[in-house]
Amino acid sequence: MTTQETIFSKIIRREIPAEIVYEDNLALAFKDVNPQAPVHILVIPKEPIAKLSDAESQNHALMGHLLLTVKRVAEQVGLNNGYRVVINCGEEGGQTVNHLHLHILGGRAMQWPPG
Ligand code: IMP
Repeated sequence: MTTQETIFSKIIRREIPAEIVYEDNLALAFKDVNPQAPVHILVIPKEPIAKLSDAESQNHALMGHLLLTVKRVAEQVGLNNGYRVVINCGEEGGQTVNHLHLHILGGRAMQWPPG
């Protein structure tokens, strides 16, 4: 299933501003507007998949690409001491924007369990 129009679609199309830190033909990474850690970056597919549970087997290469993009961006911004990757999925998962996104959180020690 694909998404309805979201704010992330507008960021992909450069219709609203974002601090973009990485882009390729499949993915975009930009700073979260409400950071929960000193470094908080979102990695999104350009293809508008609404949430992780909507991903299909045909998306497997894209899913791998998104994880490798997380690794690449984390290295690019100097997260050499580790970082957390979060995917909120659906209402009870805490997802608020219905376009799949991977949070990269870093620059401080993370707590466990998350809330
Ligand atoms: P979710 O709760 O996992 O869906 O995360 C959505 C994230 O998108 C939140 O961390 C928001 O702060 C972030 N966000 C919402 N709108 C924007 C925006 O326009 N630019 C950058 N980040 C945004």
